[in-house]
Amino acid sequence: MAVDPVTTSAPAPGADYVETASAAYRDILQIIETVEPRIAAATRKEIADQRDSLKLIASENYASPAVLLTMGTWLSDKYAEGTIGHRFYAGCQNVDTVETVAAEHARELFGAPYAYAQPHSGIDANLVAYWAILATRVEAPGLADAGVKNVNDLSEEGWEKLRAQLGNQRLLGMSLDAGGHLTHGFRPNISGKMFHQRSYGTDPETGLLDYDALAKAAREFKPLILVGGYSAYPRRINFAKMREIADEVGATLMVDMAHFAGLVAGKVFTGDEDPVPHAHVTTTTTHKSLRGPRGGLVLATPEYSDAVDKGCPMVLGGPLSHVMAAKAVALAEARQPAFQAYAQRVADNAKALAEGFLKRGARLVTGGTDNHIVLLDVQSFGVTGRQAESALLDSGIVTNRNSIPADPNGAWYTSGIRLGTPALTTRGFGPDEFDRVAELIVDVLAKTEPAAAASGPSKAKYSLADGTAERVHAAASELLAANPLYPGLTL
Ligand code: PLP
Repeated sequence: MAVDPVTTSAPAPGADYVETASAAYRDILQIIETVEPRIAAATRKEIADQRDSLKLIASENYASPAVLLTMGTWLSDKYAEGTIGHRFYAGCQNVDTVETVAAEHARELFGAPYAYAQPHSGIDANLVAYWAILATRVEAPGLADAGVKNVNDLSEEGWEKLRAQLGNQRLLGMSLDAGGHLTHGFRPNISGKMFHQRSYGTDPETGLLDYDALAKAAREFKPLILVGGYSAYPRRINFAKMREIADEVGATLMVDMAHFAGLVAGKVFTGDEDPVPHAHVTTTTTHKSLRGPRGGLVLATPEYSDAVDKGCPMVLGGPLSHVMAAKAVALAEARQPAFQAYAQRVADNAKALAEGFLKRGARLVTGGTDNHIVLLDVQSFGVTGRQAESALLDSGIVTNRNSIPADPNGAWYTSGIRLGTPALTTRGFGPDEFDRVAELIVDVLAKTEPAAAASGPSKAKYSLADGTAERVHAAASELLAANPLYPGLTL
């Protein structure tokens, strides 16, 4: 049976894709085995584990064999620091082609004037964006004050002035417990150290983003950068409103759409919900709902594009040409009509999952979802997020614990479980299967009890009623067998 290169699950009539991919992987693993058998074994084990677990990690997906195989080539061996047509190394003509095609697909897919395909990850994409915004908005006045045109000509005193200006800029992003990401200004991340930062949260009653409170915070704080986007907020955002707020206070609007880029690419988020026409700079990862290789992208308006284009060597090392090639393949896939159908199913399935929880009496942050994320508050089950995550993993259900707004258990133990539909939707799950997933999760959590550690109560230890893990894992395996991952792919 052939596999559709886009969905990775539905048959593609007429193609012997799956036989070709199987043969390719068998050969690859055999070659790896001759050099380091433990790596070949771990790679085989990984697909076995992924095939046999309900993957509900909201930031993960299954890339197509075409995307995965594109990463395993000699493009990896080429250094190409610089930008298209302007490299610090000779012989980069093929990397120029790769980067040009990746950027072209990104521009066309997202309707962006400019796209930068080099960031190695989402964090790198955000760093490129931050430094590009600083370079565009802060460096020039710094230079003008010092009376020179080029940073290389700055005096020691000029440098000191510039450093002081750079180190004193303000950033306003969503708080971690409301669903923001570490790179949106949190202390453990460089963004929380290099910027004078403040956070906006969500309404304590509804859990929803309160645009009036955000506007008030922006007026008071006057950030240079207003960051939109999230890792764990289960709702859509009105980016037109965010742009109005940014314009009012003179901020640059940067939107990190890492989580929902697939829903933007698939035209589920359009108009005010599509960040690209509204943000000055939009960043994303390529491996979450977008279903590409691990990596990042930056999209920018002309005002910021020159600075973004200097991402390497400004903050990035040499581009990963093999990964840029895989981004180009994934973006080409995302431009096909089948990807729009996939993105719509991701959102429909999240609704089915949320309804499955609500009808069984569970509490969800914001009371539901209208994107690909469901954030389950596990307090009513009497466990922490950490205990819930572990009990679910024992039962073949892979999720991750997550803070909820005003979380009494903090960011390590947490009181929430974040669930996402992109991966299982790729496998072919529909609303009925997601309803069953909700049933299995409620079943496990209802049979999980906190357990004491030797030193007293523990937020990590738990006990699961006898037989639950085996019974639920068997039920999960049934669902998985009906929706196989990479069907027909034999190793
Ligand atoms: N931005 C957001 C919103 C994310 O959720 C993540 C990762 O989870 C990142 C950035 C970082 O991506 P990466 O792990 O590729 O650096």
